[in-house]
Amino acid sequence: MAQIRIENVRKDFGAFNAVRSSTFTIEDGEFFMLLGPSGCGKTTTLRMMAGLELPTSGEIFIDGEEVGQKPASQRDIAFVFQMFALYPHMNVRGNISYPLKSQGMAKARIRQKVGEVAEILGITDILDRPVGGLSGGDRQRVALGRAIVRDPKAFFMDEPLGALDAEFREHMSEELRALHDRMGATTVYVTHDQLEAMQMGDKIVVMNHGVVEQFGVPQDIYDWPATKFVARFIGDPPMNFLDFDGAVSPGDGAVMLAETPVRMPDLVQGARGSLALGVRPEFVTLDDAAPLRGRIVATEYLGTTQIVTVETAHGRIKARLPSATAVRTGETTGLRLDPRTITLFDNATGLALH
Ligand code: ATP
Repeated sequence: MAQIRIENVRKDFGAFNAVRSSTFTIEDGEFFMLLGPSGCGKTTTLRMMAGLELPTSGEIFIDGEEVGQKPASQRDIAFVFQMFALYPHMNVRGNISYPLKSQGMAKARIRQKVGEVAEILGITDILDRPVGGLSGGDRQRVALGRAIVRDPKAFFMDEPLGALDAEFREHMSEELRALHDRMGATTVYVTHDQLEAMQMGDKIVVMNHGVVEQFGVPQDIYDWPATKFVARFIGDPPMNFLDFDGAVSPGDGAVMLAETPVRMPDLVQGARGSLALGVRPEFVTLDDAAPLRGRIVATEYLGTTQIVTVETAHGRIKARLPSATAVRTGETTGLRLDPRTITLFDNATGLALH
């Protein structure tokens, strides 16, 4: 088990800056997600923690010891790759025992440890099978078995479920999370899938262009995004932005929406400039008495809910409504935003104003 801290870590590849200056802490036993779009620097960050890449500057601590310049072999960690390469000429038992054999562990002890790991992963019955004919899920379990059999301080996983189809992915992600909860080892997991990050992670770091945009528990990141980027990247459909030039009136916290002052008492009073109100689709309701009005331009049926798109003077707003709510494309409606759920953004910096 391990606490991992990275401090002002930067990585340049020649003239290209892949990771700007990252600082965050992964607590002992956490399931920690590195999330962001392709090319944002999440794999590079993971590889630096694991010792597969050395930081250009900054420090990496594992349990308080600075390991930034140490190779992977001296960090007591295990890496699970997306393209999990099993040894094709060995059976399942051979693949899982391999790391212990290379450590020179006694045969009887290896047998016992492999048995325990197989039990945990539910693969006892396939231990003597060749790996060639195994299903994707079983191959993944064998790869995991090989990683956990060493009892490493921490696990590093780079999109480990990326190669699996959707249904199986969901099943394996539940299994992985359950396995983590049983073993309790610190796990760092790279994904570009915001849903996977929200479902599996104790904490999430959201990265963009080499920069840590936000770091926290999934619910805080969803409810209170620190930047417009995070607000757009998390949530499907993403957060709505209602742009306006002006100010949050000091005194009553009113903002001008569709030329009508609407009180938003929780917003930073006195904020001014090019601003945006951020509101999640589930906190927008249809209300004919509301001053913000628009025309319904699309509806998307999703089973229990529907996404209704309304064109307003402040841009297109999406509302998530129960499917039973009757709406007709082309009709005009009022929109009410739940003021307690609104995040105010400064359009010049993209930062949330709290
Ligand atoms: P993906 O999900 O596509 O792997 P990522 O967020 O994991 O994306 P990284 O793999 O960390 O991103 O890459 C970040 C940036 O650094 C990318 O622009 C990539 O091209 C660049 N990069 C990564 N490794 C190297 C390298 N060895 N040499 C040069 N550039 C690199």
